[in-house]
Amino acid sequence: MIQLIRGFKDILPGEVELWQEVEKTAKSLFDDFGFKEIRIPIMERTELFARSIGEDTDIVEKEMYTFPDRKGDLITLRPEATASVCRSYIQHKLYAADPVRKFYTIGPMFRRERPQKGRYRQFYQINAEIFGVDSPLVDVELIFILNTLFSKLSVPDVTAHINSLGCPDCRPDFKTALSKFLTSVVDDLCSDCVRRKDRNPLRVLDCKVPSCREALKEAPSILDYLCTTCIQHFDTVKNALASLDVPFVVDKRLVRGLDYYTRTTFEMQTHALGAQNAVAGGGRYDGLIKSLGGPDIPATGFAIGLDRLTEIAGLDRSALFKTPDIFIAALGQKSRILAFEWLCALCLKGVETEMEFEDKSLKSQMKQADRVGAHHVLIVGDNEIKEGSVILRNMKTKDQVSIPIENAVENIKAKIS
Ligand code: ATP
Ligand code: MG
Repeated sequence: MIQLIRGFKDILPGEVELWQEVEKTAKSLFDDFGFKEIRIPIMERTELFARSIGEDTDIVEKEMYTFPDRKGDLITLRPEATASVCRSYIQHKLYAADPVRKFYTIGPMFRRERPQKGRYRQFYQINAEIFGVDSPLVDVELIFILNTLFSKLSVPDVTAHINSLGCPDCRPDFKTALSKFLTSVVDDLCSDCVRRKDRNPLRVLDCKVPSCREALKEAPSILDYLCTTCIQHFDTVKNALASLDVPFVVDKRLVRGLDYYTRTTFEMQTHALGAQNAVAGGGRYDGLIKSLGGPDIPATGFAIGLDRLTEIAGLDRSALFKTPDIFIAALGQKSRILAFEWLCALCLKGVETEMEFEDKSLKSQMKQADRVGAHHVLIVGDNEIKEGSVILRNMKTKDQVSIPIENAVENIKAKIS
């Protein structure tokens, strides 16, 4: 038997209703906040991700699914969405009429990580991006949307962790101080961090290895290095979050794995997830659009991990799973043909209907109706047809009523609603 690839998964009926509900809730929230949907390809030129995410990141170093296509061009299954949304914004000059644009997109991402709970090789994200606004208030808008979405979905115990990564004016001084510090503790760092120390020292702050976390306790804080503009930017974020009653903590160690982040950076964390505690991450990436060949336009956004979100959403799965309104138990050939006509008419009217197509006894069809969770059974036999009425049985109350065959579909619909 051929099995699916490790780290990939099927989302089956019974589970998929939860995904649909989460996506529906997110879409309606985006709608209310004026975001437009954008759909971007699953594959892009490798160069797009290498340039935007950064060569020294886990994603580009070891997680991308990259292949030469049949002509030898290097293409990559997208590991994230932001790079593609920016590419699209630049390529179609979506900034020309008005640089301010708000987009969202939902879909699969691919990273070749070690599969474990909450970590897959094909996983799903909900992404939002706001282009063209410098104001820190739009960073707050994004965090507010996340907070609202999670509370609509009854996700327990979510806190926004926020930090500022500074800007190209003030970050270099911090990087120098951090590098100096890292050199002094180099013996306690893991081998990955020893390598990152020179190439991308900020990434060391992000390391999950316990000995590295211990070694970094006394590391300098970026917040002590921010320039006046970045301080003001970050103060506005904190004040606006407080006045909107969004719970947050300042986390000076929070850096993002992606190189293009500037100033505000955030992660939505919950204890409900165990080790993979981040359900969404995001922040400002003012330099990215320009570095991809577009105009100098600021941008900010987030990505929600949909696999993790569905895992912790406090929604009742069984209530989301729909079962048929009616099961038609037809007895005899003539009845089956009539039952099938009614089935089509009822489905068209929004009444979910099923029937048995083989010649089965009433007892066996009643059992089947029970098994599929039908709310009502309609018993249609040749005798009933002759007498001009059929029987509708409510499976919960066991009440039975007689429905005249004339205008049966209308009568049935009226009886069950
Ligand atoms: P992590 O630190 O958990 O690896 P990340 O920094 O790589 O996260 P981002 O690139 O910011 O994650 O992606 C945003 C969100 O996507 C994460 O917060 C997480 O919920 C989800 N996510 C990332 N990688 C995976 C994965 N391999 N499987 C499932 N969800 C993932
Ligand atoms: Mg990761």
